[in-house]
Amino acid sequence: MLDTMSEKPIMLHNDTKLQSLMKHLRITVLALLFLLVLMLLAYLKFYTTKPTSQLPKNNAAAINAPASNRGITYSLTNPSSIWVIVNKQHPLNPLTYTPSQLTVPNVPLRSNITAIEKQVSSVIVPALEDMVASAKQQGVLINLQSGYRSYELQQSLYNYYVQTQGQTQVDMYSAKPGYSEHQTGLAVDLGDINNPSCDLQDCFASTAAGKWLAANAYKFGFILRYPDNKQNITGYGYEPWHFRYVGVMLAEQMKEKNISTLEEYFNVQ
Ligand SMILES: [Zn+2]
Repeated sequence: MLDTMSEKPIMLHNDTKLQSLMKHLRITVLALLFLLVLMLLAYLKFYTTKPTSQLPKNNAAAINAPASNRGITYSLTNPSSIWVIVNKQHPLNPLTYTPSQLTVPNVPLRSNITAIEKQVSSVIVPALEDMVASAKQQGVLINLQSGYRSYELQQSLYNYYVQTQGQTQVDMYSAKPGYSEHQTGLAVDLGDINNPSCDLQDCFASTAAGKWLAANAYKFGFILRYPDNKQNITGYGYEPWHFRYVGVMLAEQMKEKNISTLEEYFNVQ
């Protein structure tokens, strides 16, 4: 009986020691788990919020790699891609590229438009027709000034402008052959039928068509490609009449993120 009694405190002492050890172990494990969760959260936050625009600038891979957005991928260099970037640094490849299918859209056309320029890439026809029809429903009358321009047409236009105005002046607004977005068939110059004097002029921005397009074009997948005050980025002065099809998803994202140029959105120059 005494033996049992005398053993008890020893048992208790051992139990307390074990309990204290377990307590320390639990605290250590919990602390480690907490640290692990923190690291996991930090990792997830970094990788899910890292925007495309944080790609390194001037990185050649940025333009050569296909761009992805919400699981959709398009090339930035293939001239048949709706996300292709064509500017003074990035000509079409090949220079004499021709869209595989050209169509005359069912929209009003500028009276003296050439047979070549009244065409656009078939890819943009439904969106263009839808946009012009929607504007008309709201009393805004838009016509097509110029759609597709072939390499040869751009060459003759460019040469003509250089001869009459000098190269420096021309390079402000006209592209060299092989460097024009119009050659992709994805770009259009639009006019206001009620204000032909503002065709291809800065004042197009203040016409009904210019205002309507600036506010609504993105809903149809078009962006104002050469915004005001972006000449250092796009290479061109303000062209309120020049719209480029990039698809509704990208146009909406650019609007949402308030990024107005393809160069800035994809971080290429
Ligand atoms: Zn244009």
